[in-house]
Amino acid sequence: MDFSSKKNKLNNKKKVAVVGGGLVGGLNACFLAKRGFEVTVFESREDIRCAKTVKGKSINLALSHRGRQALKHVGMEDKIVSNGIPMHARMIHSVNGKCSPIPYGRKGQYILSVGRANLNKELLTAAEAYPNTQLNFNHKLLDWNPETGTMTFLGPDGTEKDFQADLIVGCDGAFSATRKQFLRRSRFDYSQTYIPHGYLELTMPPRNGDFAMKPNFLHIWPRNTFMMIALPNMDKTFTCTLFMPFEEFEKITTGDELMAHFQKYFQDSIPLFGVDVLKRDFFQLPAQAMVSVKCSPHHLNEKCILMGDAAHAVVPFYGQGMNAGFEDCLVFDEILDQFDEDLSAVLPEYSRVRVPDDHAICDLAMYNYIEMRAHVNSRYFLFRKYLDNV
Ligand code: FAD
Repeated sequence: MDFSSKKNKLNNKKKVAVVGGGLVGGLNACFLAKRGFEVTVFESREDIRCAKTVKGKSINLALSHRGRQALKHVGMEDKIVSNGIPMHARMIHSVNGKCSPIPYGRKGQYILSVGRANLNKELLTAAEAYPNTQLNFNHKLLDWNPETGTMTFLGPDGTEKDFQADLIVGCDGAFSATRKQFLRRSRFDYSQTYIPHGYLELTMPPRNGDFAMKPNFLHIWPRNTFMMIALPNMDKTFTCTLFMPFEEFEKITTGDELMAHFQKYFQDSIPLFGVDVLKRDFFQLPAQAMVSVKCSPHHLNEKCILMGDAAHAVVPFYGQGMNAGFEDCLVFDEILDQFDEDLSAVLPEYSRVRVPDDHAICDLAMYNYIEMRAHVNSRYFLFRKYLDNV
């Protein structure tokens, strides 16, 4: 970099608004603050670090190499990894209760189970530690103006407030309000698909003070048209997620019907949950929908860029939604360097590079929707056959 551009950079601290203080917004705030931008985060919910109840898409998530690389860049990797549980293999539970592992990769390779709430809290705390970052909670983006970059938020006192920025980074999730302006533009491609399955989370409590199942695995009960998975938590519980077509969920309306379903398909899990816990969790909340969103481009003029689920919501079966969102932050950071923070060049280049990769993640996730609940069964038999022959 020559001296004049460096001087220009120092004198020109860009004002950046990050809309959404979830996982990707939190990490992005760290990346942008680290580079010296004036960063203001607007999150519609209350501060998760003070909230009594935390609502989110899932209790825990699988963090992989892709996400770790991005965390590493802002010095967060070790902290997050130390609060994660390595999962070296999938553990397949057959209908008769037999358990068989299928490794994810070579010896020593693993993904990590991390708690969503803790990860989000750590990212917000890290972002807030930069003197050039300000976090605003209970601020919901209503709309923004693509010509001026002026955003209108609904504040905590119920009044509307305007805020202007040089760059708006939309990290406000699958139902992004930032994205609405993109939809009004010509030549913006957008598609969203709901899958017929819903999901519901169940907690498997510890047993005699320890994990009820082997902790270093991602447990899967594949049953072709539906499945259950379980990821371990630091408090020795497992979060089990049941994925089934909505019409199957709707058939289960009583405790007896639930137990009959579990007796037939997930018998080995019943004593591990306990009947009361199972009935309590199952009927606590309705099953949640899952949506896949693709769009292109990811930028609008020199003013706005979409990242994370706002740009590419994926179905959760590939375990890469958050990881891909974290990678978005890293790729954007690299392109900012490459084009010396010239937003008129950075934003189109980001869309050019990132859209094909994000679309690929959406497609792979949709493919894995079938892989995990059905093909994993046949893969397991092939794997057993292979082991029998060596
Ligand atoms: P979000 O997490 O949705 O955060 C968006 C934030 O924006 C929220 O805090 C929201 O309150 C805020 N917001 C929304 N609207 C506004 C507004 N108008 N103004 C201001 N703020 C606003 N991914 C993985 O990598 N690994 C996994 O194992 C995994 N498991 C999953 C399991 C399930 C069941 C599901 C549903 C998803 C899973 N994912 C996983 C995907 C992952 O949850 C998402 O990709 C990730 O949460 C995306 O982060 P985000 O910050 O882009 O969006």
